Amino acid sequence: MINEHYKAMLGGKSVIRSLSEYATARGAEIGYDNVYDYSLGNPSVPCPPAYTDATMALYRDADPVALHGYSPSLGIPSVRKAIADSLDRRFGMDYTADHIFPTTGAAGALAHALRCVTAPGDEVITFAPYFPEYQPYVAGCGARLTVVPADTDTFQINFNAFEQAMNPAVTAVLINTPNNPSGAVYSAATLERLAAVLTAKQAEYGHDIFLISDEPYREIVFDGGTQPYPSRYYDNTLSCYSWSKSLSLPGERIGYVAVNPRATDAELIVPMCGQISRGTGHNCPASSVQLAVAQVVDMTSDLSVYETNMNLLYDALTGIGFDVVRPGGTFYIFPKALEDDATAFCMKAKEYDLILVPSDSFGVPGHFRMAYCIDTEKVKRSIPVLERFAHEVYG
Ligand code: PLP
Repeated sequence: MINEHYKAMLGGKSVIRSLSEYATARGAEIGYDNVYDYSLGNPSVPCPPAYTDATMALYRDADPVALHGYSPSLGIPSVRKAIADSLDRRFGMDYTADHIFPTTGAAGALAHALRCVTAPGDEVITFAPYFPEYQPYVAGCGARLTVVPADTDTFQINFNAFEQAMNPAVTAVLINTPNNPSGAVYSAATLERLAAVLTAKQAEYGHDIFLISDEPYREIVFDGGTQPYPSRYYDNTLSCYSWSKSLSLPGERIGYVAVNPRATDAELIVPMCGQISRGTGHNCPASSVQLAVAQVVDMTSDLSVYETNMNLLYDALTGIGFDVVRPGGTFYIFPKALEDDATAFCMKAKEYDLILVPSDSFGVPGHFRMAYCIDTEKVKRSIPVLERFAHEVYG
């Protein structure tokens, strides 16, 4: 008999993926240029030439047996060191190679980090709006995900609701900043207050509470700002990173877990990740991808198009009369829909070939997400369509 749990999951397909598939099918009918597809967070700018050059040089010059050989189960030592050195330089940390575990993107990083600090039945807290895949990530560990309601005025943390939600079953708190879908960048004040609550609760409950910090958008911050590094604020932090967005490499599946050297049992966590890999069949990212990324560890793609697109959309949406918090980073914007039912709103937008994602699966009602990692020219062409949609349907 096949597994009932996974069979049941087939009925709960990702809304984002379904909309993206619809947009592709609609594009085959009317030309993809005419579909304003804001569904998927797939980067629209190329990776830096230095990454391609590094890959080509490896394929051309490296010993093929070594290059395509098995990675050590905790990752290639020189790659782990390059990552640790980069984080230490950029964020004033004191990681060594032993604190770094290379993974297949942020999804792989989160799968390991969550398993390291939760047991079946434990509770993980996250904050709305949140990345919908957190549901299967947490369920896959046998833990429960509790979602703290959003502060929709700022999309920083709603601390009153957070403190009410805290209880002794919570072993991990999962944050994502810069945030998908709101674009909010948690401020230093937010991270300080979060650390203070977690420190107090650890003392009150008499056990560790780990902060799992999901950071694939770390470098996509607007107005010349930067994302304060969460692990600087709280020692029991596991940082989960991915080059999917910053280097535009989502298909290469490369990221890492970085364990704060002062976390409880810090020296055990990376070796434990190796044991988790054995059971899940993860077995490290491709050796060639680890080696190539280590050569461009401080670089990003040219990310400026995302800020250009954000400003165009923010001005257009506010001009039309949408209520919207200006994103501080990412390539998402999360306006309030023009009716309470976000799904109905997005269905009506579809009639105008505007592909918008309703907010319900992000844990917030009455909003929608636009992923503006698309050509600026298309963003500009979508603005009169958004205006027409809003005026014809909502007056
Ligand atoms: N976390 C967030 C907030 C994301 O938006 C994504 C991807 O869109 C992921 C994790 C997964 O990233 P990756 O593709 O690197 O596994």
